[in-house]
Amino acid sequence: MQNYARVDLAFERGEGAYLFDGDGARYLDFGSGIAVTVLGHCHPHLVAALTGQAAKLWHCSNLFRIPEQERLAERLAANSFAAKAFFCNSGAEAVEAGLKLVRRYHDETGHPERYRVITFEGSFHGRTLATISAGTNAAHQKGFAPLVDGFDHVAFGNLNEVRAAIGPETAAILVEPVQGEGGIHPADPAFLDGLRAVCDEFGLLLFFDEVQTGIGRTGKLFGYQWSNVAPDLMSVAKGLGGGFPVAALLATDAAAKAIVPGSHGSTFGGNPLAMAAANAVLDVLLADGFLARAAQVGRVLMERTRAVAARHPKVIAEVRGRGLMIGLKCAVPSASLNDALRKRRVLAVTAADNVVRFLPPLIIEAAHVDEAMAALEDACRELAA
Ligand code: PLP
Repeated sequence: MQNYARVDLAFERGEGAYLFDGDGARYLDFGSGIAVTVLGHCHPHLVAALTGQAAKLWHCSNLFRIPEQERLAERLAANSFAAKAFFCNSGAEAVEAGLKLVRRYHDETGHPERYRVITFEGSFHGRTLATISAGTNAAHQKGFAPLVDGFDHVAFGNLNEVRAAIGPETAAILVEPVQGEGGIHPADPAFLDGLRAVCDEFGLLLFFDEVQTGIGRTGKLFGYQWSNVAPDLMSVAKGLGGGFPVAALLATDAAAKAIVPGSHGSTFGGNPLAMAAANAVLDVLLADGFLARAAQVGRVLMERTRAVAARHPKVIAEVRGRGLMIGLKCAVPSASLNDALRKRRVLAVTAADNVVRFLPPLIIEAAHVDEAMAALEDACRELAA
């Protein structure tokens, strides 16, 4: 189907921060398959874990215990606010699971009238019917009416609008700690504090969508860990499997109580192959010093990108983000900067609000930053001319 406007370029293999096309041409991958390959391509530990598991057991269904799933759930819980995990296969599915849990939680606690969820302008939560309804992208919604009822959209960062939108039917607030597809807009930590306070005051569930910000992308394991608050629910995907499709909905004990055998499910969710990949990703991410190093490289990349932007204000208007999630708000069409980078064999990703995103693997080093900055400088020179 014609749903993707594809670049006429195909990659044959990957190694670390690089992708190679069929002619052997090398590209620096600062897009990571849209924030997915957190450990770069073919990380030896991931390859060993996945091939080892492939020779033992691929799939057995959630009709049975899956020890590696229990282990992953315990590790995610031990390193976050959560007590429980549900595993699925994509970000949209994890958000959808959370939206269902929100309704069931209020149904179980005596408030079946509470089903509406407050979400934010510029947000993106996936492409299922419920998640395009939760988001605000008109192009994603066009032609798919009727949308799913139950979403109230307010301005990102505006607590007054949030409070004004709360009514007797409000059940939850769903927010990205850094809006990704919307153009890399980090939430002010005070805004997240405020959302937590509002949720506590009105008995709402706070639901963080960390599909893009989670798994080290912002320099901490989860993006919310830059703030003082924790959510009741959190969706995680993208980086979780380092390139293997796997996602999770994490929840507090109190929220997860709403889910009982038969409430929800997934055939593939959390199968042994996916669990081997995700546990291997955590082996590396949770190793001493790994995330601190990624955060430090992120700071350097941010500073250096800002320095290039300052020299080329006619091309880059602003640089913003957190960790290795960096948005270049363009003063030229973002596609032209993205194309100019690709011509110089650096891959980035565009986002809404005329932004080019750098989402490099967390394993990049100073030399990769140098290489990307040389390409950016050169691309800016061309575009400014
Ligand atoms: N939520 C957020 C914040 C995302 O960035 C994305 C994807 O970009 C999704 C949900 C949807 O994830 P998926 O494409 O895996 O369904």
